[in-house]
Amino acid sequence: MTALFQLLQTSPLAFIIMCGVLGLMVGSFLNVVIHRLPKIMELGWQQQCAELRGEITHPDGDAAAPYNLVVPRSACPHCNHVISAWENIPIVSYVLLRGKCKGCGAAISPRYPIIEAISGVLCAYAAAHFGFGLTAVGALLLIWALLALTAIDIDTQLLPDDITLPLLWAGLLFNLFGVFTNLSNAVLGAAIGYLTLWSVYWLFKLITGKEGMGYGDFKLLAALGAWLGWQMLPLIILLSSLVGAIVGITMIVALKHGRNIPIPFGPYLAGGGLIALFWGQTLTHEYLQLLG
Ligand SMILES: [Zn+2]
Repeated sequence: MTALFQLLQTSPLAFIIMCGVLGLMVGSFLNVVIHRLPKIMELGWQQQCAELRGEITHPDGDAAAPYNLVVPRSACPHCNHVISAWENIPIVSYVLLRGKCKGCGAAISPRYPIIEAISGVLCAYAAAHFGFGLTAVGALLLIWALLALTAIDIDTQLLPDDITLPLLWAGLLFNLFGVFTNLSNAVLGAAIGYLTLWSVYWLFKLITGKEGMGYGDFKLLAALGAWLGWQMLPLIILLSSLVGAIVGITMIVALKHGRNIPIPFGPYLAGGGLIALFWGQTLTHEYLQLLG
């Protein structure tokens, strides 16, 4: 164990490979989170509603089978073929199975290996960028949370509190030790991040009578502020609005995507947050130099 620790500390390549492989494995778990967390939330809401209506006499009755991030084991949605360990190796299994279920031959969504690959590549990059240490550990956690939030928001237009709130606390805890910024920058980042989008939301609602974004977006920007400090907020908002506007306009023009169909903002915030994580310091520094 000490030998492994020493190897990772002294060999940047070993650290990059380890983080890349870890990224692939966690990416595989993220697929489960992305698929199940919205369903778990919905089951919870249904249960709460049923309780309010007085329909549940035994709230913890054993009628329903447990459904959480661990149980039941992953199975093919078409034939219920239970996925074995070797069919669950990130990317490799998808390639060996040629993207088809072993039980019934139904196509497996390419999204699973894509998320695994993105996670692997980003984690390896974070290892190379930050080097061995607590900063890289924090970067990996942030990458995983942002990936899960992005995919869930695209699927369901939700940013679960179960991810955004622990993410915010984790950012504050890391910065208690000054990992990405100092604690006061982090606390201000969380508060200003939340209030900025909250104000935009209410202003937009007062003017247009519509809801432009959700409370999940405020919490996500608060979390990013807690991780990266308030100084990064203008950059994150600028980047996410810019990319969001480009993608939004393209979708309206090219796909005739109705103007009133909500376009999730979370993925752009997450993307802006990732760019700020890696290049925020450089970008803001160069921008300030441009201003003189
Ligand atoms: Zn199947």
